[in-house]
Amino acid sequence: MRFPVHITTDAIKHQIRNARKGNKRYPMVLMLEPLYTCNLACIGCALERHTGKIEDRLALEKCIQAVEETQAPIVSLCGGEPTIYPEIKELIEAIIERQRHIYLCTNALLLDSRIFGKVAPHKRLTLNVHLDGMKHTHDLVCDREGVFDKAIEMIKEAKRLGYHVTTNTTVFKETAMQEIEDLCELVAGLGVDGLMIAPGYHYETVEHDIFLSKQEIQIKFQRVLELSKKYRLMSTPMYLEFTAGMRDYQCSPWSTVTYTPNGWKGPCYLIGKEYYDNWQEFWNKVDWAYWESRQDRLCQNCMMHSGFEASAMFELKKSPKDLLRMAAWNMGL
Ligand code: SF4
Repeated sequence: MRFPVHITTDAIKHQIRNARKGNKRYPMVLMLEPLYTCNLACIGCALERHTGKIEDRLALEKCIQAVEETQAPIVSLCGGEPTIYPEIKELIEAIIERQRHIYLCTNALLLDSRIFGKVAPHKRLTLNVHLDGMKHTHDLVCDREGVFDKAIEMIKEAKRLGYHVTTNTTVFKETAMQEIEDLCELVAGLGVDGLMIAPGYHYETVEHDIFLSKQEIQIKFQRVLELSKKYRLMSTPMYLEFTAGMRDYQCSPWSTVTYTPNGWKGPCYLIGKEYYDNWQEFWNKVDWAYWESRQDRLCQNCMMHSGFEASAMFELKKSPKDLLRMAAWNMGL
């Protein structure tokens, strides 16, 4: 199976529960950003995501409340760098106790001091390591030498210790697709359990002209679609066909909700037009129909999985052929 069995079964149960309640929109993933402090300042990262003070982090209880309120079966722990969060061990344990699956999105620099030997490998925990290219490119993107070597060392150690490990790669304007293939070959050889490759989103607070237009995404992702036939990519074939310009979907911003030290971020993981203190207020006040339509200028070049993977999944019921393809893909056929 491409995903551990419990992720697939939990996701199906969650969908059935919501269908029975007649819910058209519901979260599948909670992006939980417990702090906006980071030990790096990557050039593609929104300014507010790495410049925060540690004392402004979310309280552990607030994080747990967010997990319970959304009911999403998957919690992606990001930030900032989540391994810096002083209560990271307690947070991971509390989420696992609530039967959710965690993707710990990390630059891997602190895995040896903050995770290994402190948080045991668990089927509900995936270490998702950020790698935006081979050594030269990744260190350039991270704006620090040595980050790539450390990440590779940590991936090897994590696999040796028995953790479930995936990698997460953002494709920028200057990314050479041969380098992405070289990276896939390298990490597949290290035994990683899956690779995520996504186009970068053009944050308005990022100065550098490094992001792709929609047309550029479609060209580069035709190659990613090819790579998905050879390597264990975690993106669904339908989403990859969307990024390659072969399908079109409306957005599902409500499928991936984001809780941050500033509150619930609306309308989506990428755009913080408004922050809400209260989950109900956030869920009821965001104009979902407007953001689903992608008519806003901020949506113009967006093909991010946080908006469209769920759209691809929800459309499956309309096509038995796609449903079968999806089942075969998940079984690794
Ligand atoms: S298209 Fe992208 S930017 Fe627009 S609402 Fe969807 S996820 Fe957000």
